[in-house]
Amino acid sequence: MKHVYDYMIVGGGLAGASAVEGIRELDAAGSILLSGEESHLPYDRPPLSKKLWFGKQKVEDIFLHDRAFYDTHAVTLAMGTTAAQLDSGKKTITTANGETYGYGKLLLATGCKARTLDIPGSDLEGICYFRNLDDYLRTRGVAAEGKSAVVIGGGFIGSELVAALNINKLHVTMIFPGALLCDRVLPDYLGRAMQQRYQEKGVRILAGDKPVSFSRNGTQFITRTGKGETIASDIVIVGVGVIPEMELAKSGGLEVGNGIVVNEYLETSRPDIYAAGDNAFFPYRALGQSMRIEHWDNALNQGKWAGRNMAGAHEPYTYQPYFFSDLFEFGYEATGEVDAKMETYADWQKENDTGVIYYLRDGKVRGVMMCNVWDKVETARELIKNGGR
Ligand SMILES: Cc1cc2nc3c(=O)[nH]c(=O)nc-3n(C[C@H](O)[C@H](O)[C@H](O)COP(=O)(O)OP(=O)(O)OC[C@H]3O[C@@H](n4cnc5c(N)ncnc54)[C@H](O)[C@@H]3O)c2cc1C
Repeated sequence: MKHVYDYMIVGGGLAGASAVEGIRELDAAGSILLSGEESHLPYDRPPLSKKLWFGKQKVEDIFLHDRAFYDTHAVTLAMGTTAAQLDSGKKTITTANGETYGYGKLLLATGCKARTLDIPGSDLEGICYFRNLDDYLRTRGVAAEGKSAVVIGGGFIGSELVAALNINKLHVTMIFPGALLCDRVLPDYLGRAMQQRYQEKGVRILAGDKPVSFSRNGTQFITRTGKGETIASDIVIVGVGVIPEMELAKSGGLEVGNGIVVNEYLETSRPDIYAAGDNAFFPYRALGQSMRIEHWDNALNQGKWAGRNMAGAHEPYTYQPYFFSDLFEFGYEATGEVDAKMETYADWQKENDTGVIYYLRDGKVRGVMMCNVWDKVETARELIKNGGR
C-alpha cells in the first residue's frame, strides 16, 4: 500500500475542493489526499460556457485555489489520477495505474460525466461532449469568427454554448427534440420568447428534430437529422445531459440509484464513506424528498458540509441551494423544485423580460425562478420553507 491518509477525497472538482475547506475548519492536522482524474487543479465550470467566451474572465482566474493554498493546508495532490476500485471493507482505493491508498474517511466527489449519443459517427474524433476545461480549450481553439457550429441539445449547457458561439460570430445551428429550448425548466411562454430571441440573433433552430448520424467530409462534420436535414459544420458540440459518476461507488458495494445514496449527514451506505455534489442523491430537507442536484451552489456547500462531517461535525445538510444561468441578456437565479411540468404563476414585466416565476404543487410554492431580478434568493428560500401559497 502506498500510503494511508486520514481523509481521501476522490474527485478534484468543486465539491472535492470545498471538502478540503470543510475538513480544515475542524481538523488542522489530519492528512488529506485530493485526487482527480483531470490534470488541472480544481476549477469552476460555469465560466466554461459563459464568461470565458465573453472576455469577462480568463482561464487562469477560474481555479478555485492556487497551488499555494493546498501546500499551506497540507493537502497532497494527485491530479491526473483515476480512482478505479474501492474496497469499502479494507478501506482502500486502487487507482487505474495500480497504486493502492488507504483511507480513514473517504469522500466520493466524482460529479457527473456527459451523456453520449449512440448513433453512427457519434464517437468521431472532434465531436465534443462538452463538460470540462479541456473541452473548452479545444473548442475555443477552433471557434473562430465565421466558422460554423452544430450544437445538439436544448438544455442549459447547449443553450449557453449557442449564445457563446453566436456572440463570437459563428454560424450556429441548434438541434433538439423538444418544441422549445430549455423546456424542462422554462414555462412555455418564456421558452417561446427565448427561442424567438435566439432566432433574432441569427441562430438557426431545428426544434423537434434530432441527429441520426455524423460523418466527415474533409475538415467538416456532416450532421444528418431525423427530419432529413444535412448540415455541414466546422464544430459539433453535444450537450444532452449528464450521468452521475458512480462506478467507484458500485465497485465498493455502495447503495446507488439516481446517484450515490446518502443520508442527511451525507454518509453513504458504507461506514466512513461520504458523497457530495452532482453525484449525491440526498434528502433535500426544505422539499421533504430525496433528489440529486447538478448545480454549482449545491456542490460548493455540500462539499464543505461533507468535509466538516468527515472531520466529526455530524451536522445534517439543511442548506437550500440556488442555481443560475445566463442566456444572452437574460439571466436568472432559481431555488427549489423548478420543473416546467408544474403549475406556474408569473409576476412578469413583458417589456423587459423581468419577473419572478413561482412553481407550485397543491397550491404551495416549491420553486422560484427570478429572471433578471437579483439578490432575492433568500426571500425565495423563506417562501418555500414556509410552504408559501
Ligand atoms: C459547462 C458547464 C456550465 C455550468 N454552468 C452552471 C451554471 O451556470 N450554474 C450552475 O448552478 N451550475 C452550472 N454548472 C454545474 C456545476 O458546474 C456543477 O454542478 C459542479 O461542477 C459540480 O461539482 P462536483 O464537484 O460535484 O463535480 P465536478 O465539477 O464534475 O467534479 C468532479 C470531478 O471528479 C473527477 N472524477 C470523476 N471520476 C473520477 C475518478 N474515478 N477518479 C478521480 N477523479 C474522478 C472528474 O474528472 C471531475 O474533475 C455547469 C457545468 C458545466 C459543465
